[in-house]
Amino acid sequence: SSWWAHVEPAQKDPILGVTEAYLADPTPHKVNVGVGAFRDDNGNPVVLQCVREAERRIVGKLNMEYLPMGGSHKMIDETLRLAYGENSEFIKDKRIAAIQALSGTGACRVFADFQKRFRPDSQIYIPVPTWANHHNIWRDAHVTQKTFHYYHPESRGLDFAAMIDDIKNAPNGSFFLLHACAHNPTGVDPTEEQWKEISNIFKVKGHFPFFDMAYQGFASGDPERDARAIRIFLEDGHAIGIAQSFAKNMGLYGQRVGCLSLVCEDEKRAVAVKSQLQQLARPMYSNPPVHGALLVSIILSDPHLKNLWLKEVKVMADRIIGMRTALRENLEKLGSSLSWEHITKQIGMFCYSGLTAEQVDRLTNEFHIYMTRNGRISMAGVTTKNVEYLANAIHEVTK
Ligand code: PMP
Repeated sequence: SSWWAHVEPAQKDPILGVTEAYLADPTPHKVNVGVGAFRDDNGNPVVLQCVREAERRIVGKLNMEYLPMGGSHKMIDETLRLAYGENSEFIKDKRIAAIQALSGTGACRVFADFQKRFRPDSQIYIPVPTWANHHNIWRDAHVTQKTFHYYHPESRGLDFAAMIDDIKNAPNGSFFLLHACAHNPTGVDPTEEQWKEISNIFKVKGHFPFFDMAYQGFASGDPERDARAIRIFLEDGHAIGIAQSFAKNMGLYGQRVGCLSLVCEDEKRAVAVKSQLQQLARPMYSNPPVHGALLVSIILSDPHLKNLWLKEVKVMADRIIGMRTALRENLEKLGSSLSWEHITKQIGMFCYSGLTAEQVDRLTNEFHIYMTRNGRISMAGVTTKNVEYLANAIHEVTK
């Protein structure tokens, strides 16, 4: 007799499953464009120089004490400045309730739990498509999910008209999940003008914008530019929420360092909200890990290291942008009759290629190229060495 005899295996995670299959393939020329982590031009993981230097500064000097329940104050201060702006009035007026979170995922999850606790009847509007884990996060927080139009398959761009309609048709005061930049999986972002329009309609409707910002700096190479959507909403006076992550832009994936912040009407309310966020975290994981937070606060508070970081973010973004151009040019050189303009138009880590599930299966089975079946190509997995092979295979399966 077993206590767990009724437990069946969980469904495989669609993204992590790709990596497993890739690792199991003995073919030397196999290609992994499923992974959502940056790789250098040899396909290897990267640790930034600024991170190595910050590590050198603390090695052997740390005690292993707990951080405060809400995490490192210094890390949070620096992190908020990145998102809200160096001279943000909201920061000066202490109107932001913020806690260190277990990277972007943890920030989203604590927010979802907070939403459930203090707006128990609210729903969350999520773009179609979105990062698959968003659905899991709000499901496990028991928040009802609604969707809004986002991607337009024919144009491989934004379905702006349908998105606006959905925002208008949602009941006043609805919660919306927005990707601040480099939308995952589509790589399609609204333009600045479109963000302004979205912000206006949010204002009219009294909607709550929650920004998932997992790629600040990674999209354009400039964290300020990638914060544009957020700044537009702030200028319009929205009391936004943000989930920030240092997984991609600082390459701190496994360190699990991020931040959840909510703009409140005044300092008093921010103190109250922060205390409630901490109280949500307490029974889940008590307090966040110290090492990654220390690295972030060292890097962002030292002008030399911060500059180095800004350069290194740009190098990562530029490599990805360069691979977009190379992939598109190779496909065009092969004489593909299809349009591949979207490869260079989309931004961030991913290219939503438009390949069908059947075409992806052929890429995997015939060419040992691994990616998710929704046709999402992680541009970080493309290198000067495999781009021609990849283009050729894509051309073959789309003929
Ligand atoms: N949001 C989005 C849109 C993402 O793509 C990711 C990473 N795949 C995350 C959040 C969270 O990543 P992490 O928890 O590693 O910061």
